[in-house]
Order: sequence, then structure tokens, then C-alpha cells
Amino acid sequence: MALQTQRPIKAFIHGAALRRNLGIVRSRAPLSRVMAVVKANAYGHGLLRVAEALSDADGFAVLGLDEAIALREAGYDQTIMLLEGLFHADALKIASAYRLSLVVHNEQQLQMFEADNNPGNNPVEVFMKVNSGMNRLGFAPDIFATMLKRLEGCTNVIGITLMTHFANADESIGINDQLALFNQLTAGSRYPKSLANSAAICRYPEAHADWVRPGIMLYGSSPFSDVAASSLDIEPAMTLTSEIIAVQSLKPGDSVGYGSLFHADSPTRVGVVACGYADGYPRHSLTGTPICVNGLITRTLGRVSMDMIYVDITEIPNAKIGSPVELWGKQVSVDAVAQAAGTVGYELLCAVAPRVTVEFTDV
Ligand SMILES: *Cc1c(COP(=O)(O)O)cnc(C)c1O
Repeated sequence: MALQTQRPIKAFIHGAALRRNLGIVRSRAPLSRVMAVVKANAYGHGLLRVAEALSDADGFAVLGLDEAIALREAGYDQTIMLLEGLFHADALKIASAYRLSLVVHNEQQLQMFEADNNPGNNPVEVFMKVNSGMNRLGFAPDIFATMLKRLEGCTNVIGITLMTHFANADESIGINDQLALFNQLTAGSRYPKSLANSAAICRYPEAHADWVRPGIMLYGSSPFSDVAASSLDIEPAMTLTSEIIAVQSLKPGDSVGYGSLFHADSPTRVGVVACGYADGYPRHSLTGTPICVNGLITRTLGRVSMDMIYVDITEIPNAKIGSPVELWGKQVSVDAVAQAAGTVGYELLCAVAPRVTVEFTDV
């Protein structure tokens, strides 16, 4: 047994859950290639360890050149795509050398290819992005055809995929207008297409096309605010755990924590847990956020501190210093904690702080 010398908070990353969730993506979109989205340090789970668990994916999508290079140098041979393309023309030579695939979403990026005069570079694969209504990245519909012709004229481009991104695949408004516009713009085109994020993979088979781009569902968190991850058959890939480090007994009228936000109206046992907002636990979550102590679901009390939170252990009499606490994972879904904090699972997973020890487990 290893010596236990650290603060007890830890994030366990479950390789089996990642593999299983990739299998769920494949069963939902059996005809599509899968671009596993591993941006933001694989949604806080650790880029290289997640890539290893997801090494069956047909491609990986990241934002930074450094992340893409790390994947290539780790030996992954599949498509590695930069979701925002290049930020400066200087990077084109490097992207080419590492055989990276680049999103091209504006004319400046197109010009990087047109102005490139390194005939020794490998030609680069491009995902050309259309703005079909989200108004974030992508060529406007009225210039799309002209820009595509210019891209086709670039001898340093090999292989073009047409892509777009949905604003409302997880909302009741849905994707119909964006999909109709994309289909109209790309009708008759011989190029492969990529449209679907996790929500569209789950809800809109008509948008699966050649490449799907799952992110959040690979990590076992639901893309929908009103659908639990468990009913999508996906499993949480992260368990954030800690321990109780102090126990307090409140009399009626006593309060706990900064601002004395929680007042006991009956005798209340409080466990103090080694986890706070500096670990990535959301400060916006107030009394009542679900949390698990000794395998039993209970609730947080009062305001989250930088390094600690408070839990109600009145009904868990055997809870004591050292008792295990699950902040989120298989017993408490990260989505339930996110909902209590007015946010989404994505934000909590990405925000797990560097000071939290991450341990990869194969199960
Ligand atoms: C982040 C991202 C995705 C993945 O979205 P999820 O909702 O996490 O599945 C897909 N496509 C693009 C362009 C993205 O930026």
C-alpha cells in the first residue's frame, strides 16, 4: 500500500467508461467515422490517457497545435484536427509536417494556403466550415461557393471535408433550419461532411454524415439539460472523490461557513470535506447540492469555501473523519451538481484544478 501523504481529493479517470461510451457513439452512428473531441485536456480528463483509452477512434479533435503535436508524437496515426484551424500562417509548415487536418473557417485562413510557398510541405487536409446559423465560426452562406473554389485551387490542400456546427442540437428548437441550409449549400458536392456533436449524434441520425464529432458523451455527461446520462446509456468517465476532514455538531440556530448561509433548525451533524472552489467545485452551488458520503446520497450545506465544503451527515451516523466522499461520479452525476450550480457538466469537468491529483484506472 502506497503511503498516503497528500490532501485526500482525487479524480479517478475510468478507461472502461471511455471505451464503452465510444462504443455507444458507434452504435448510434454506425456508418460514420468518429472524431473524438479531446479539446480542453480531454474535457479535464487528461489528453494522452484519454487518447489511449479512445485509440480506436478514427480521429481526434483539439484546439492547440501543442496538443495536436503531443498526440502525433505519442504515436497516433489517425486524423488529428485543429477545430479552429491555424491562428497564424507561421504554423502551416508545422501543421503540414505533423500531417494535421485544419479547419478553415475564414478568408484569412484560406489566404494562408494561397500565400504558402513551401512546395516541400506535405499537402494538408482541410475541414472547410460553413456558418449555417450559429454565427460563431464559418464562411457565410453567400460566399461559401466562391471560397470553396479558391480552396480547391490550392495545390497544398489535399482532401476537403465540409463541416458545420449546430447551435441548438440540445435544445427544443433543434437543427432543422441549419441542416436544411447546409444540405442546400453542399448539395451535389462530392466531399465528405461533418456536422454532429454529441447532442446531434443522440437525437438526429439525419445529421450523422461521414464524420461525427462527439465530445461530452464520451466523458459520460449528458449533452441535454433534461435527459440524464444514464438514460443515454453512457457512463461517467470521472469520479471526483475526497474525504471528511472534520466533523461539527450544530445546535438549532447555529450556522456554518462564510456568510452563515445555512442555519440549522434542528441538531445537525456537519462533515467538512477537503474540496472547494479552488479544486474546481462550483461556488454557485448552494445548500442542497447532491453529494455522496459513505455511499449514501446527502446534500451540501451553506457556501462553498476555497478549499472546503460542508455536508449534512445527520442521517449518516457512522460518517466520521476519513469517510469517503464522492463529489461527482457514478453515484452523483456531474450533471446534477452542475444543475445545482446553474451550469452544465462540461464546465465542471473542464474546470477540475491542476492541484487535484488525477489517477487513471482501467476500469
Ligand atoms: C466541442 C465541439 C464538439 C463536441 O461537442 P460536444 O457537445 O461536447 O459533443 C463538436 N464540434 C465542434 C466544432 C466543437 O467545438
